[in-house]
Amino acid sequence: MNKIQVKTHSQSEFINITPEVGKIVHRQGFKEGVCYVYVPHTTAAVTINENADPSVPKDIQNELNKIVPWDDHYTHMEGNAAAHIKSTIVGSSVYIPVSDGKLALGTWQGIFFCEFDGPRNREVFVQTIKSE
Ligand code: ZN
Repeated sequence: MNKIQVKTHSQSEFINITPEVGKIVHRQGFKEGVCYVYVPHTTAAVTINENADPSVPKDIQNELNKIVPWDDHYTHMEGNAAAHIKSTIVGSSVYIPVSDGKLALGTWQGIFFCEFDGPRNREVFVQTIKSE
């Protein structure tokens, strides 16, 4: 199992982990397959979106904050219900095809670790599956 350590610095934050995931894929040394990226946390998530304009992940966070406000008479006593809900909306895993030994991402795509209850030390699990 390959793991990436992620240190987050604010309550809500999207961190580009594409280079770290790409390094793991490169180390495996196969040409064709799949890369599975999984976040083992209940108040964080992973998503793929535009990595060129930093205002895109900012807009996503701003809109998520409107849909799921931090305070809203939640019953979860820990006080971080909003982070749990955002984690479920965004999701805990993504698959990326591997082609010619590289992540087959679109030109503008990046893989983002999504923090919703930081700052914390987090982990991302990366599993590769060779298909040739
Ligand atoms: Zn909680």
